Amino acid sequence: MSLVEYEVQDRVAVITLNRPDQRNAQNAGLLKELDECFDRAVEEKEVRVIVLRGNGKHFSAGHDLSDEAQSGPPWDHMFDNVKEDGLLDMYKWELGHFFGYSRKWRDLPKPTIASVQGACVAAGLMLCWPCDLIIASEDARFGDPVIRMGIAGVEYQGHAWEFGARKAKELLFTAEFISAEEARQLGMVNRVVPREKLEEETLALANQIAQMHPHALMLAKRTINQTLDAQGQHQALQSAFDIHSLGHANAWITSGYPVMVGLEEMSQGNKALKSKKTE
Ligand code: ZN
Repeated sequence: MSLVEYEVQDRVAVITLNRPDQRNAQNAGLLKELDECFDRAVEEKEVRVIVLRGNGKHFSAGHDLSDEAQSGPPWDHMFDNVKEDGLLDMYKWELGHFFGYSRKWRDLPKPTIASVQGACVAAGLMLCWPCDLIIASEDARFGDPVIRMGIAGVEYQGHAWEFGARKAKELLFTAEFISAEEARQLGMVNRVVPREKLEEETLALANQIAQMHPHALMLAKRTINQTLDAQGQHQALQSAFDIHSLGHANAWITSGYPVMVGLEEMSQGNKALKSKKTE
């Protein structure tokens, strides 16, 4: 079974994260397949718009922190040479696969729409933020609680750009989640729809956009993305990634692991937070 599914409906490529039993948590294989699906959607001439969605109750629980994921590639050998190289291998991996993928997907030459339901946690944001538009169902909730791991925020730190500086700080400092409606009011989400209408409304918007000329769509996207980059977005994101990496280094020095608290504690913290927010 594929970790990511791909299909083209009319002129819309629908890419589906397909680990519903793991709340679409991202392991190395899923990210690789996802990148290949984005490449395919760009290559296929008939595709005008790309939709990214998640199978099951949740869009994505973030990076896969399970023991199984942590004991496989690339993590299993990442710290073998730490005495000689420091956290070089980890830095390179995160730069290429976490920051790098998000940055690449943000600039795909076709419009992208994220269709989000349920939990969108931490690295889940690194999948929906690079998309051009976000449609969320009423049950969607967004949060980046990695301060509980001694880390400043996820690798692709779009917070200040998505929420404004003051709200971004509140969300990072408190590790709180926000609802779909609050995300819409803050400008992070375009539209909020009932859960049962999410697929229909996403495809309707994608089909509407697919009527436009593909070259004009690409140019429109570039005008906005380059405006953001002229405001310093790309440089700011790169700097924030390096600060993120400093958090891993600090954690390594103090705890011998690249996150400040044990993964189990992080997981427990998330479970407690999740049950509080979903009750
Ligand atoms: Zn990291």
